Amino acid sequence: MGSISLQKVSKVFGEAKVIPSIDLDINNGEFVVFVGPSGCGKSTLLRLIAGLEDVSGGKVVIDGKDATDAAPSERGLAMVFQSYALYPHMSVRNNIAFPLKMAGMPKEEIDKKVSDAARVLNLTDYLERKPRQLSGGQRQRVAIGRAIVRQPSAFLFDEPLSNLDAALRVNMRLEISELHQQLKTTMIYVTHDQVEAMTMADKIVVLNRGNIEQVGSPLELYRSPRNLFVAGFIGSPK
Ligand code: ADP
Ligand code: MG
Repeated sequence: MGSISLQKVSKVFGEAKVIPSIDLDINNGEFVVFVGPSGCGKSTLLRLIAGLEDVSGGKVVIDGKDATDAAPSERGLAMVFQSYALYPHMSVRNNIAFPLKMAGMPKEEIDKKVSDAARVLNLTDYLERKPRQLSGGQRQRVAIGRAIVRQPSAFLFDEPLSNLDAALRVNMRLEISELHQQLKTTMIYVTHDQVEAMTMADKIVVLNRGNIEQVGSPLELYRSPRNLFVAGFIGSPK
């Protein structure tokens, strides 16, 4: 569970070859960060993995199975959106329970899963509140809770902290890293922020114009950037 393999994956929008061809292996339990400048194709790549966009060519293999043509709901992955994607009129409990209700799960089972997620995320005392009665960090945790209850084989995050202030971002980074240590589930995290990449990743994938410039641990990229783009982006002296 939780392994993802991209094999010659490409994406074309009209005339624009946004992703020429990407090969990438993500192992079960890894925390992988896609980093690169705005417009380099990070979100597109994540959406191709999630099945929210169709590939133009190549294969997406999830847990050893060809998922290239599978619907998003069949892939066993959970996309965590920014906290503003919460339903404002619903309580925290119902926001977290929503995907399970949609899937027709019995109420007792839903209640148990919601309490378990709330415990992991320190939201137990906030379940009956509405999103507007929460801090930014708590809202982000609710968005994560909505993904956790589905017990996905991987979590996909697309710049989840970009609308939080600097102090809160540092906090949430730690919380997401701790969550990864607790759950040991594969996480793919998209950011244009080098510091986030360096502090959170087991494996960093540096993207530039839809191509992978380098894949490696933060230390590997820092010590031996393959080229000036990586060196400049990661901020090491080469
Ligand atoms: P990033 O997330 O790294 O900022 P994106 O994946 O959002 O980059 O976008 C990569 C490129 O693909 C950009 O040039 C963007 O304009 C283009 N693009 C993304 N989605 C679409 C779309 N649905 N239609 C046309 N072009 C798109
Ligand atoms: Mg993006």
